[in-house]
Amino acid sequence: MPRITVIGAGVAGCTISYLLNEEGFDVTLVEKDAVGGLLREIEFDTGYHCDSAPHLLFFDEEEEAVVGDLFSEFTHIEPHDFYAATYPRGDLEDPHHYPVSKQNIDRWDDADQIREELAAAPGKTDAEFFEEYMKNQVGQTLYDRYNKNYTEKHWGVDPKRITGDWFDFKISFPEEEQEFFGDGAYYPDDKYTDILETMISDCDVVFDGVTGLETTGDRIDALETESGDRIGGDLFISTIDPSLVVDTTESLNYRSMVILGTHVSADERLFPDHVDWGYFPNDYEFTRVTDYEFVPQETPDGEYILTTEFPCFIGDDVWSNDDEWYTDYLHSFLEEQGIDAEILDSKVRRAPRAYPLPVTEEIETFERINSQLSAHENMFNLGRVSTYEYIWIKDIVQQAYETRDDVLAHVGAQTAD
Ligand SMILES: Cc1cc2nc3c(=O)[nH]c(=O)nc-3n(C[C@H](O)[C@H](O)[C@H](O)COP(=O)(O)OP(=O)(O)OC[C@H]3O[C@@H](n4cnc5c(N)ncnc54)[C@H](O)[C@@H]3O)c2cc1C
Repeated sequence: MPRITVIGAGVAGCTISYLLNEEGFDVTLVEKDAVGGLLREIEFDTGYHCDSAPHLLFFDEEEEAVVGDLFSEFTHIEPHDFYAATYPRGDLEDPHHYPVSKQNIDRWDDADQIREELAAAPGKTDAEFFEEYMKNQVGQTLYDRYNKNYTEKHWGVDPKRITGDWFDFKISFPEEEQEFFGDGAYYPDDKYTDILETMISDCDVVFDGVTGLETTGDRIDALETESGDRIGGDLFISTIDPSLVVDTTESLNYRSMVILGTHVSADERLFPDHVDWGYFPNDYEFTRVTDYEFVPQETPDGEYILTTEFPCFIGDDVWSNDDEWYTDYLHSFLEEQGIDAEILDSKVRRAPRAYPLPVTEEIETFERINSQLSAHENMFNLGRVSTYEYIWIKDIVQQAYETRDDVLAHVGAQTAD
């Protein structure tokens, strides 16, 4: 059987390694850092844990049932009704629905003007760019208050330039408060990292960073690594930034994220009882705060596990602050909100390449670089970082099944030759 070498041990690398190992292939997985990638949990010295920003397992129960089936082989997945609030005035006493609902209009003094704008707005239409798509639905004023600044903070890009086929899936404007993902959202009983480690327990894992390819013609013979080793194989699968693997002077821009995890003792919960996280479209440096009550772990009354997300580009001020800065920032925010809180433990997780940028010029750069990668006949790629698509766990699991089938077809064709 051909030997398979997979680059990156996030959910993409682990799922494809598992599926191919199940087919009888010997799989070697090369990981620069630690198993889990973006799904790796934050672990507190106080014994608790949380995601590096919330990771819900959402999928369509009929069309994407394979996602639930795969995870159910390794853990129990529990349905959960996830709710979020948004705080356009930056005030925890003033939660609005997220996604913004038509009921929210009454929260504003200029409700009549907003209704006039809505009456004139075309509603849900096809639009190439985010700003136009959003304004068509909610009108100028609601867009300015709930979406514009948040989107700019999150992506670091003018929303006029943001494009994609994810608008329909992510964006709605309901009449009243709506839960996230209808009936199709779950959360696993076990940690994602434990699930992924179990998936790859029969694979060889090498901890090293891949720096390039050793090739003959259009075939890859081996991976070159940071430690100076060469790791061979017959077929290669990449789940990382393709510009790190091929010989190119171009690079890809991703939005990164600094995630502050905190174990907090506080005299009150930040959000209404049923709400799991809050969005902040105002000028705070963070976009979202999450309360991990939905994680199957018991915390004492009055203690909360939170993450606070600070989007940034690698090397900018937000990325480069020392760890204390993030904790101080959260502490000042809680104080400003009148919450009497003590931070019992905090951890800072830097997540490089968290989001491929949904911007035409960046996607074109990706396509140029990726065409060099896919010119190798024994290379496959999948995952959010490697395909430069704004996709989720459910999509990556489905990509892994497709990649498995592609590999089987490739091997079948070679055997027939
Ligand atoms: C804040 C946030 C919230 C999210 N929430 C959700 C959610 O609720 N639901 C959902 O479905 N999805 C969510 N996602 C998306 C989800 O996290 C990603 O789609 C998924 O984890 C990406 O997996 P991946 O394997 O493609 O990439 P990664 O997890 O990034 O894995 C790539 C791996 O490659 C390794 N690597 C990098 N360079 C090298 C190298 N040179 N050599 C070897 N190894 C290397 C990295 O260390 C990493 O382990 C969220 C993402 C973020 C950032």
